[in-house]
Amino acid sequence: MAIPQSAPTVPGRSCDGCTKCCEGWLSADIVFDRRLLPLLPDDGRITDRLVHRMEPGNPCLFVEKDKGCNSYAARPYNPCVQFRCHYLVDKAVPESMKPSKSNVILSVEEIDGEEFIRATEAGKKMEAEHALWVVGLYINNSVNVCFTVDGRFYYLGSPKFIKAISEKYPTQNIL
Ligand code: SF4
Ligand code: SF4
Repeated sequence: MAIPQSAPTVPGRSCDGCTKCCEGWLSADIVFDRRLLPLLPDDGRITDRLVHRMEPGNPCLFVEKDKGCNSYAARPYNPCVQFRCHYLVDKAVPESMKPSKSNVILSVEEIDGEEFIRATEAGKKMEAEHALWVVGLYINNSVNVCFTVDGRFYYLGSPKFIKAISEKYPTQNIL
């Protein structure tokens, strides 16, 4: 069972120097609270001042890469305040897997009641040592995993997990 994202941050770990989850490698609607609009930078880049779709190729408008969020005080609770990647909450994740070092974002997700760890490439092709670490979660700890190497998705896990995820993503690769 993976440690939930709501778990406390591992002492000594922080987002310092990392902005990977704001750079568009993960997808989310960034929805700002109307009451906080005066706190947003008014530089003309956002036409709908309330919603911004973050997705691959479309980073959040407020991310300063490798530095932080330039609308920090007005950032939405969900996902911005709430989200913590798996590196932050699981001390078993090695320091080398910090997203800013590994270019891999680890997150905990669920499909049909089956929990799994997703490893998302964040700016570079996943290196072999990082892919092997993810595979090791399944081999050593029977954790369901899903990961990307050079844009291709792979899954490893229990029969129930494989069934659920292959039905959702029928064209992907199952190891
Ligand atoms: S990817 Fe993880 S360490 Fe990096 S900014 Fe996001 S939550 Fe923090
Ligand atoms: S509003 Fe700030 S914390 Fe939220 S995604 Fe954008 S840069 Fe990241």
